Amino acid sequence: MNDWLNIAGMVEPLEGVQLDADLVASMERQFDGLSGERVGRVNFYTPTFKAYATSEIAGCGKSAWPAVSITGGDCKLQCDHCKAKILEPMIPARTPEQLWSVVNEQIAGGAQGMLITGGSNYRNEVEYDAYYPTIRRIKDTFPEFRIAMHTALVDMDIARRMEDCGIDAAMMDVIGAQDTISQVYHLRRTVDDFEKTLEYLVSTNLKVVPHIVIGLHYGELLGEWNALEMIRRHMPQAVVLVVVMPFYAPEHRPFVTPDSREVGRFFMDARKALPDIPLLLGCARPPGRVKAEIDSYAVMAGLNGLAHPSDGMVELAARLERDVRVTPACCSIAIGDEVMAIETEDAGLQIDIEQIIAQERARKAPAGALAGIRIVTEGQSTSGCCS
Ligand code: SF4
Repeated sequence: MNDWLNIAGMVEPLEGVQLDADLVASMERQFDGLSGERVGRVNFYTPTFKAYATSEIAGCGKSAWPAVSITGGDCKLQCDHCKAKILEPMIPARTPEQLWSVVNEQIAGGAQGMLITGGSNYRNEVEYDAYYPTIRRIKDTFPEFRIAMHTALVDMDIARRMEDCGIDAAMMDVIGAQDTISQVYHLRRTVDDFEKTLEYLVSTNLKVVPHIVIGLHYGELLGEWNALEMIRRHMPQAVVLVVVMPFYAPEHRPFVTPDSREVGRFFMDARKALPDIPLLLGCARPPGRVKAEIDSYAVMAGLNGLAHPSDGMVELAARLERDVRVTPACCSIAIGDEVMAIETEDAGLQIDIEQIIAQERARKAPAGALAGIRIVTEGQSTSGCCS
């Protein structure tokens, strides 16, 4: 048994989780040889730690980073993995006036920023035209209020308009396979349109945070490596990886659950390809045992951030001697951290690793809970957590 597999075996919440020994061994070898600005640190975004929040951790409530849709629940594309369901829980703002009211209400309720998005037209564009003046007004009136925009596909002119209206970050899904664009998105656009979008956004002063949805082709990995290459050609500020959760897939186009080993291999390749920018694992990924496997591989591959980690991940990272931070945060704040300049140098709270391990050995706490573990604040920035 290799060292890292042994180490994972000491993490009690990982009991019953089957990690692939060859993959773990190759992750260990690769990690030893990695060098890069972003290698070695991992920040866990988790509301689990709210019980240990110190007075320095400000409460935030669920609305700290609300998601707002300018089309409500409407989307013309009706992609096979989503069917517009992602939009349903968002706050609708179907007119610029509504957006202004929503933002004022949200700020009064303590919001620090928002994700603005909407359903696509048939060309995978979100039609923000009428909203740019209002977004400019929001940024002029509330300069501290951060705005992350899901851009969808853009041309240079639209990228400039996004920059001019003052948003803080631009997010888009990078798709690297034509079949996925045509079949899953029902879209007559090309892989090159996605790359051009990235190129245009990166040429502005915006912080650009592209996402790769792993398993987007009906649960199989197809264009992910090409997406990685596209990103390498137009280096953004950070990259978010998510794993497809096709709850809404139509019966005639079912998705399989992506193979955790393939996902793990992709994490390794992504880390190797992008050693100098933050690589984050977003909230979306299948639940249960496969999540524990995916998360273990994410930690071992050296990703820099995990939103809502499975039980045992903080301990695993600590045992692998990573520089571990914890930000008590719901997923929306993980988005917020992406937006806030990906300021991972100062993000999160350092935690007392020795105590984690001692606690785990003592097994006084229920599996996975880090009860009583001291959070060392060291003057770090603070965040809230879900209530
Ligand atoms: S374009 Fe976006 S919101 Fe619309 S169905 Fe596709 S993934 Fe969902």
